Amino acid sequence: MKLALAYYGEPVLRQKAQPVKEITDEIKQLAADMIETMHAENGIGLAAPQVNRSLAIFVSHVPLKQPDGQWDGGEDRVYINPKILEISDEFEESYEGCLSIPKFHAPILRPKWVKFEALDLDGNKIERFFTDLEAQNFFHENDHLNGVLFIDRMEPSERKKIDPLLRDIKKKYCKKKP
Ligand code: ZN
Repeated sequence: MKLALAYYGEPVLRQKAQPVKEITDEIKQLAADMIETMHAENGIGLAAPQVNRSLAIFVSHVPLKQPDGQWDGGEDRVYINPKILEISDEFEESYEGCLSIPKFHAPILRPKWVKFEALDLDGNKIERFFTDLEAQNFFHENDHLNGVLFIDRMEPSERKKIDPLLRDIKKKYCKKKP
């Protein structure tokens, strides 16, 4: 089932997500619904707070760079209770967008790689090393679990410029007015 998105201005996006204590059928259903919602919205990642659930889960489907230089393929993934183990001290700037902040993209500086652990849907502990788009996607979604949005990582002067846009998003999409 496709779930309703939470948009910029909704308090759930600013809360620290709770760790998942047990992977119940409800959690499995939530993950499946999040994957469906991510695809329906043409996203490559979606965190539970973005569907109004303050839980430490995110899903992703990151395309991979093919030999012909195109980005394609990838697989649906679910990460539960992710924990960063190590990050690069080198940074890379790429454009990011977010389903909770429609029609806006900005260049964001992120570490080049990350090593992290998480649980999969069977409760197994997995460890991953991600670079490039996969690392960028990880940092973006992991931020959501800490109540952080990509616009928080913009240059302050650039961030200031989008105040009117953010006000519009609040007005247009947000159900609960803060
Ligand atoms: Zn996002």
